[in-house]
Order: sequence, then structure tokens, then C-alpha cells
Amino acid sequence: MYPVSEVFQRSGPNGRLAGIEYLLAKKDLLRRYKAGQVAKNDVCDAHPDLIRAAKAIGAPSGQVCEICEIGDIVHVSYAFGPKLPPHGRCIAGSDELDRLRETVTEFTCYVVEVCPQCHWNHLVRQF
Ligand SMILES: [Zn+2]
Repeated sequence: MYPVSEVFQRSGPNGRLAGIEYLLAKKDLLRRYKAGQVAKNDVCDAHPDLIRAAKAIGAPSGQVCEICEIGDIVHVSYAFGPKLPPHGRCIAGSDELDRLRETVTEFTCYVVEVCPQCHWNHLVRQF
């Protein structure tokens, strides 16, 4: 895991921490992959369930995969919290996120970018 100092922390309108972006961690991993220091199998290792979720409900990011340069990157969101299943709950869209906010007071949402083509996956942000 990357130390917090390498992670960009975005503040909300009231100055509180609104989320953590993992851009620097992604750039560092891509740099090491392109330098041959990390194998493709180690960066394109998405779990089959994550690939299924990406194909079924992934939100288009408008980005092309930097690994295979073919696949369209999609974002898949999971929520974890005390009143949610231990393996988390997959969030299908902003409507479902709003409903979750109304019913569950405490949860953390993780957004993962996934390439359904080559199975690249990386944590984008948490909030
Ligand atoms: Zn790809």
C-alpha cells in the first residue's frame, strides 16, 4: 500500500476530507509496468466477479486502457460498512448510491477502474 503522503487528498467544500484519490499510485504502477519492473499478470489480475460487474454495470470513464490500449476503462463502485455484506455491495449508479445514503449512515465507497479487455484494475478513489 502507498503511504498517505503519496496520495492526493481532496477536500470538500467545508474543508473536510471528502475522499482520497489514488492517481499518483496509479501513475507509479504504470511507470513501473512500462519499465518492465512489473509483469502484465500482476496488473491485469481482476477477479472474475469484478470483470462481470464491469461488463454489467461499469460506468464508462471515457478513457482507453493504458495497458492494452484497446479496452474502454469503466468504473465499478463498491460500498463497505457495518450494515453491509462483508464482501461489500456493488453500486449500480448514482441513484443506488443516493438510496444507500438514505438507508445506511456509515459506509465507505471504493471506486475501481477496470479494463474488461485485459483485466487491468486499480483503485481510483475512496469516499
Ligand atoms: Zn486493457
